[in-house]
Amino acid sequence: METTLRGVGVSHGVAIGEVRHMGTAVLEPPAKQIPADEAEREQGRARQAVEAVAADLVARGNLAGGEAQHVLEAQAMMAQDPELIADVDRRIAVGSTAERGVYDAFAAYRALLANAGEYLAGRVADLDDVRNRIVARLLGVPMPGVPDSDEPYVLIARDLAPADTALLDPTLVLGFVTEEGGPTSHSAILARALGVPAVVALPGAGEIAEGTVVAVDGSTGEIFVEPSQEKRAEMESASAARKAALSAVTGPGATSDGHKVPLLANVGGPGDVPAALEAGAEGVGLFRTEFLFLDDSKQAPSEEKQVEAYRAVLEAFPGGRVVVRVLDAGADKPLEFLTPADEPNPALGVRGLRSLLDHPDVLRTQLTALSRAAEGLPVYLEVMAPMVADRADAKAFADACREAGLQAKFGAMVEIPSAALRARSILQEVEFLSLGTNDLAQYTFAADRQVGAVSRLQDPWQPALLDLVALSAEAARAEGKSCGVCGEAASDPLLACVLTGLGVTSLSMGAASIPYVRATLAKHTLAQCERAASAARAADSADEARLAAQAVLSGE
Ligand code: PEP
Ligand code: MG
Repeated sequence: METTLRGVGVSHGVAIGEVRHMGTAVLEPPAKQIPADEAEREQGRARQAVEAVAADLVARGNLAGGEAQHVLEAQAMMAQDPELIADVDRRIAVGSTAERGVYDAFAAYRALLANAGEYLAGRVADLDDVRNRIVARLLGVPMPGVPDSDEPYVLIARDLAPADTALLDPTLVLGFVTEEGGPTSHSAILARALGVPAVVALPGAGEIAEGTVVAVDGSTGEIFVEPSQEKRAEMESASAARKAALSAVTGPGATSDGHKVPLLANVGGPGDVPAALEAGAEGVGLFRTEFLFLDDSKQAPSEEKQVEAYRAVLEAFPGGRVVVRVLDAGADKPLEFLTPADEPNPALGVRGLRSLLDHPDVLRTQLTALSRAAEGLPVYLEVMAPMVADRADAKAFADACREAGLQAKFGAMVEIPSAALRARSILQEVEFLSLGTNDLAQYTFAADRQVGAVSRLQDPWQPALLDLVALSAEAARAEGKSCGVCGEAASDPLLACVLTGLGVTSLSMGAASIPYVRATLAKHTLAQCERAASAARAADSADEARLAAQAVLSGE
């Protein structure tokens, strides 16, 4: 019998197929003692397995490219962490087998991370994945991870490690559903980058039996278990109609009455450029440069390496805009050489622009590299700082840009409520604003973006968040400057109309969402978007706001 479950839709599209579960079993090797004369051989086995797993992660990264590559390379480094390896050696020296030594050493490291604060939750999942891979190799059993199947399937997992998300083959994996994760989690961002329909934060998904047919709607977050023939036909035809409608709308982003809203892509490096171009992105609205810094947590990449990566992105958009965000380290993106290790609450600590102002050499090198990369290219370079709290922050960043001789527009991200509340004051120092709605929601609702249990508060339809967007957009309009959105809110087609109605001037998102947003925007006038925005702001909850905007936009 058909039943309906509801999670959070994070990547558009419809997927209908049989369920396959991710191999999540924790492989716990038996705790048996080995004689002392076997220790050396076991240590050798452990090292070999570590090296093989690291090489495999790097190879998967090369295959995947883009943001995924940087994440996988960071995992490979985790596997080769010298302290972890030394701990494995020590454990084997006192009688552990290689597999048990690895298992226990990772458990100790995991406890350290977990106690270091919630912000490391994402890294704990990555660490578990690395441990599973090494232990599986030592035990000679198949790697946990994406199931082997020649037939297309819907993947269900507790949470997806970046290594698995990166390898999802869109021709085999019709869609995925996870029990954990929120709309702004790493997995959700990667799913959108891959263009695979996905629903997250659906507790109980793990109980759907292997082989059961489900229909996943990545837009609404609904999962129909054992859907009726009618439901399947209805969803399939809606999906086909949506695809046809999508390909019929091309060109720059605009409302039906011609109000232009440039549609830009979020990228993590040159690897994401082809998808952005294919989706018709009019430029880049957010270049997350921290992915370049993940390769080596001990030092920043050289100026040369940075010039090369920036240039590869900048030259792909002749005549277009490319907005580069300077390094956003800390909290969910810790970097050893920049991020203080002992902060009680890193999301509220020295992160983003704060850590760059503490390390002016790192900021200077990045700005100089950007300046060199843009030299002679016919591109509009814009550079922005993450986590700007007030006018003093904005001034410090603009001063650093000027000192580096950067020929570009300087901007501030609005990710902290204080920046939205005092946007006009910040705009005295910089030329544009870009709303990072992921962090703005996190800080407005005191809801960690990595915690599935608070995903309700991470919903970008929350009227309080819309109020802060409106304040920022109004301030920019009053100052004759631009205010875009580059958080995940921009990738929701209906919300994109509301954001347009609130006065934002550009929308930046994962490339796969661009056709959906373009097509929806093209169906409505600016006045309709403005009415939808007012209706959403008048609501008392995210759900009500969504329904109110839907009613306005569909009732016309
Ligand atoms: C945001 O916070 O909305 C944003 C775009 O930055 P990131 O997701 O990289 O923190
Ligand atoms: Mg952010």
